[in-house]
Amino acid sequence: MKMIPILAAMMLLASQAHGQSLAYAPNRGNVKFLPPAEYDHKYEGRLQVIRGSASLIAHLCPAPSPGYRMTCCAIRMAEGRECLVVLADDDLLLRVGVYDSKIVLRHEIGHCNGWPSHHPDGRPLANFLD
Ligand SMILES: [Zn+2]
Repeated sequence: MKMIPILAAMMLLASQAHGQSLAYAPNRGNVKFLPPAEYDHKYEGRLQVIRGSASLIAHLCPAPSPGYRMTCCAIRMAEGRECLVVLADDDLLLRVGVYDSKIVLRHEIGHCNGWPSHHPDGRPLANFLD
């Protein structure tokens, strides 16, 4: 039963933080899904990653417009010293055509490192696939 206060706290934090969106499936190599090099590195702050269902994502990741399907978000807190990544479970990722949660996590950690939500200078995934 300790889950409820934790979720409530995260929802409060989410409402105060800047959510990031995943607008496309990164399995398409030409999509500029990866952060630019300056944001594409290990996050040095306190990182928490939680995974869950569509309803959890809907609660914690604000959609930019009605009907928009979110699959993940990164919520920066404490002036960037802490970051919460909320990532859909594998079933939901597969339904939207995402086959590798590590790639999505890399995208979101880019946001934890300060990559703006409109994805400036994103790099095509194709450059990093075999
Ligand atoms: Zn993003």
